[in-house]
Amino acid sequence: MSRREPLVDGHGRAIGDVRISVTDRCNLRCQYCMPADGLPWLERDEVLSFEEIERLVALLASMGVADVRLTGGEPLVRRDFPRLAGMLASVDGVRELAVTTNGFLLERDAAALVAAGVDRFNVSIDSLQRDRFYELTRRDALDRVLAGLEELARHPEAHPIKVNAVAIRGFTEHELPAFVEFARQNPYEVRFIEFMPLDADHAWEPQAVLTGEEIRAAIEEIAPLEPLPREPSSTARVWRFADGSGSIGLVSPVSEPFCADCNRIRITAEGRLRTCLFSLGETDLRGPMRSGAGDDELEELVRAAVWRKELKHHVGEPGFIQPDRTMSAIGG
Ligand code: SAM
Ligand code: SF4
Repeated sequence: MSRREPLVDGHGRAIGDVRISVTDRCNLRCQYCMPADGLPWLERDEVLSFEEIERLVALLASMGVADVRLTGGEPLVRRDFPRLAGMLASVDGVRELAVTTNGFLLERDAAALVAAGVDRFNVSIDSLQRDRFYELTRRDALDRVLAGLEELARHPEAHPIKVNAVAIRGFTEHELPAFVEFARQNPYEVRFIEFMPLDADHAWEPQAVLTGEEIRAAIEEIAPLEPLPREPSSTARVWRFADGSGSIGLVSPVSEPFCADCNRIRITAEGRLRTCLFSLGETDLRGPMRSGAGDDELEELVRAAVWRKELKHHVGEPGFIQPDRTMSAIGG
């Protein structure tokens, strides 16, 4: 691999992590992410091919972007997804390959993904109660998702497994006792992620966020917690149960933004580079790739965009503008 200069933004942050959306399609319709009827999906040829994704990952890895997370939409609905994972796992300079999934197809794909070299899995589950899972995701799929999670857990290489729940006021409070039990009985770190204004229905409002601190306080009422040291550039604050059984993570982008340490960029399914979840502008990489741009030219495009990476997000501030894209179309 030809080593290139590290990728650094205009505020001095070295970029080490890329989140790639491999499809905008999904088999669930989570209320905080997608409209009930779905969205107008991209045409097949609008989506980056496996070879195009591999090329971008190799270019970014040569600039020190060593951590790659594959997401969507639902990444497992992309045909032949484990083959893509295998291609990326063997790219020179990729240190960690992770997947964020809703788990619906994990029973089918867990073994193939582990064999392909995926190192880390985040499985999104917002409720452990069948009717409430259905209410939030608009699909009666909890049993299938839990079966997928169990299948994944059979593979020692997949651990530690993280289970992500979006923290929504009026909903998540009622899930806490079950999640505490779940985190204490199983080898999963349950992580609560504050609801962000990236929902299709524009129903987000500041009051709809159940904050990390509120969750911590509510969990303390059930079982005492102890803080674990924060890992550098980790978005989560992790607490373990004082009796040693299990841990929980709190990701608080709204109430305690971690922008100063943000080392991430994102690539959408159609090959647009985004430097922040809340970016209002994007840089097209697919067009130049398809019209014959060389790696040096692509590198220049990436560097110019990353140089302008936003200092911070403005969620909750007057004048905040919600991006047109929903989380599913960005790649969360
Ligand atoms: N479909 C996969 C899944 O659900 O895990 C991957 C894509 S999904 C967009 C990635 C993550 O974003 C999920 O954990 C989901 O819960 C989270 N997410 C979606 N919309 C969100 C929002 N408005 N606020 C906070 N997190 C959100
Ligand atoms: Fe699909 Fe994930 Fe969005 Fe839910 S959060 S609608 S599973 S992309």
